[in-house]
Amino acid sequence: MEDPNVFAGAFVDRSGERRKDPDWMANALQSDGARFVPIWGDQCLVSGELPEAVLLTRRQVDAYFDEDNLIFLGLFRDHPAFAVAISQGLDAPFRELGEFQSLRHLGTVLPADEANLVAHARALVLWHQSQVFCGICGSPTVAEAGGNSRRCRNQGCGRELFPRTDPAIIVIVADGDRCLLGRQSNWPEGLYSTIAGFVEPGESVEDAVRREVYEETNIRVGDVTYHSSQPWPFPSSLMLGFFAEAESTDIILNDGELEDARWFTRAQLQKGEIGLPFRISIARRLVDHWLKRDDAAAECA
Ligand SMILES: [Zn+2]
Repeated sequence: MEDPNVFAGAFVDRSGERRKDPDWMANALQSDGARFVPIWGDQCLVSGELPEAVLLTRRQVDAYFDEDNLIFLGLFRDHPAFAVAISQGLDAPFRELGEFQSLRHLGTVLPADEANLVAHARALVLWHQSQVFCGICGSPTVAEAGGNSRRCRNQGCGRELFPRTDPAIIVIVADGDRCLLGRQSNWPEGLYSTIAGFVEPGESVEDAVRREVYEETNIRVGDVTYHSSQPWPFPSSLMLGFFAEAESTDIILNDGELEDARWFTRAQLQKGEIGLPFRISIARRLVDHWLKRDDAAAECA
């Protein structure tokens, strides 16, 4: 089995059955083994030259911990693991233990299991902060199920809110030995990437692939094959990666989202004629795998 995409990998045993077991949760919270992932604003605490996530004990997070906003992540390396939100209004705490950094930079350097854990913690903390009030009646909401859902406090409403992920497609479109890449005007000069966009209501992901590629580049796509997915926690996307085969080749930037889109040959990419996305992104993995796929085909020919 291939290594999972960065941030993915199911390294946390989510132990869904424990979420509604208050006795187990209370014991876990108080246990010496409990570990807490601090999220300050949207940043994560790390230490060391080759950074590792800093996981805290209950005693260390006592000043910040709020049992009404408990966020249970699951079992991590056999320890009950929780997220703890720290208001960004405060000076960065725990300076003696490490430094808070952006997850965007940490994805490439943290051990894979820690990247999975802290991305999960950060996504849930940010979700809770955005769901303090009910979207139907405007009443305050309260965390439940170990912080894996919230409920409106207004008994006449009682709406249950679940953490959301926003599905987005990302696709490398091939035309023989060429692939379709585009760039947005605010990207670093020379950087090109795969076509991507959010799935809209009423669409299958395959429909979304065909629509996004057409809207952005005017290219009609035939076969669409699923590759892999990546939880992309900025803030809550789920990137669904595909290979697709082009049925047309004339590029027109229909919706103006891209500043440029072109066909690039494998040789051009291998020579480094353009910049490619960060190694942590599924976009880069799609490009790398497409290059390898063609290499294999070339060897067979
Ligand atoms: Zn409500």
